[in-house]
Amino acid sequence: MAGEPQSDCLFCKIVAGEVPATIVRESETTVAFRDINPQAPTHVLVIPKAHHADAAALAAAEPGIAADVLREAGEIAAQENVRGSGYRVVFNTGSGAGQTVFHAHAHVLGGRGLEWPPG
Ligand code: AMP
Ligand code: ZN
Repeated sequence: MAGEPQSDCLFCKIVAGEVPATIVRESETTVAFRDINPQAPTHVLVIPKAHHADAAALAAAEPGIAADVLREAGEIAAQENVRGSGYRVVFNTGSGAGQTVFHAHAHVLGGRGLEWPPG
């Protein structure tokens, strides 16, 4: 069922504490942790605790939690001191766009120059 933990999902396992992660922030509905393969000095993933395959599915099913993810992304930027220099919030959606983990997540990237358009 939408939102329920999936036994084969890496990020559900991080939420459950079954896979270790460097957690930097947590709310009632979200967890934020450092990306294991950082692409910038700040590279934090913000995920809903509930399982949804991607950001669009999350927003359709639980819009309040989608808003929580966006708010937490901004709080992470402040916590990591990249709000002033600028940062990027990315939701890769679909394998053609580079999504590899099918549990919705926001990448918060900052601490270096970020090119536009992205690759
Ligand atoms: P995406 O490619 O947009 O689906 O993003 C998935 C992200 O999860 C990638 O940037 C990976 O480096 C990251 N990742 C994969 N496994 C882990 C893990 N165990 N802990 C933290 N980040 C991870
Ligand atoms: Zn999941």
